Amino acid sequence: MNVSFDIPVKLVDKVEILLERVPYLSESILGITYCKDKQVVELILNEIGMNSGQLNELRESYQDLCSSLENTRVIKERVVKSNLIPVNRKQWEFNENKYEYPCFMDEYDITLMEGLDSEFTKIAINHGAVKREYPSVLSKHNMTRNQYHIHFPQNIFGVTSVPHEYEAINNFRNKTQTESYDESFKYNGDILQPCICYHCYEELQGMTLLEGKILTGKGKCFRHEIEWRKDNFRRNEFSMREIVIIGQESMVVDMRNQILENVWGLFESFGLKGRISTATDPFFFSQDLKTKGTYQMMSNAKYELLVTTSNGKEVSIASFNYCQDMLCSKYEIKGRDEVALHSGCVAFGIDRWKEALIDVHGREFNKWNEIDIMRGILL
Ligand SMILES: [Zn+2]
Repeated sequence: MNVSFDIPVKLVDKVEILLERVPYLSESILGITYCKDKQVVELILNEIGMNSGQLNELRESYQDLCSSLENTRVIKERVVKSNLIPVNRKQWEFNENKYEYPCFMDEYDITLMEGLDSEFTKIAINHGAVKREYPSVLSKHNMTRNQYHIHFPQNIFGVTSVPHEYEAINNFRNKTQTESYDESFKYNGDILQPCICYHCYEELQGMTLLEGKILTGKGKCFRHEIEWRKDNFRRNEFSMREIVIIGQESMVVDMRNQILENVWGLFESFGLKGRISTATDPFFFSQDLKTKGTYQMMSNAKYELLVTTSNGKEVSIASFNYCQDMLCSKYEIKGRDEVALHSGCVAFGIDRWKEALIDVHGREFNKWNEIDIMRGILL
């Protein structure tokens, strides 16, 4: 079943943001297409279980979303690096074939991932970073500080468990044999980490730092993606490395910008095509954008490295974030003057880099060494 919604005239310059958000209106949406000439968004809906009442609800949610966007100021995108010949972007093409990810990575994938991560780690170490390893779960206390779950509820996965009580354990076991056991799980507020950096802030929470601190860590991260938007690049589970910079404003901004230059160099040396731009929509349903002055800050807050794949899609494979004193205030990390420090982070989606390399070079290289040789030739 298809349904078309008009795009209000006021949202003509915010179409990308609208299209990004529409899939989250309902789980019944199986795909969307954007008809530019008619200025409508067409929704492909699940035939089963969508009655007229639910359709009306969907229409209302859509209108609600549209009016909230009318009042949102959009940060104008600014391209800071590009090696692209202008092409038609096909970000919103609906793919009917359900994507199934391979259930394992083979030696070739693993070698690429290890090689890529060692490049990212080298960049981190060159900037004075020290290595860390953290658990995969963020506690409720940590979430209360970082508020990711408030900004991005659509992305999170909670962790549940069976309570250690005789009754509860038996009850759970019995239910597994007869009916659904979903409600026998208990939730204590743990979230599977969507990124690494909140652990770094937690580590330094409440501290007074006499000089800047740079940490780097890698781990599996988890995001609840929309089923039909999943592909080789967009997954529920992926490996991420982050470099977290905490210090005085100029140190953080300068280092973020230097790392951006290093990463662009690495990207080009791999023969990849793409661009680095400011992100237009750093927060989803964010409260923070309403704060006075935040808008100016946001325009310099987030740069994204977008690779263009062989079929013309753009995929974000790294981000370079500057958070001002927002996170250090929340975690009470201060400088010698007892004022909250500034911070930033650089995040690499290692699986996405790996997919981008395979997209361009195929699976012909047997060893990371050969990519090194290729880089030598390109450089
Ligand atoms: Zn981060």
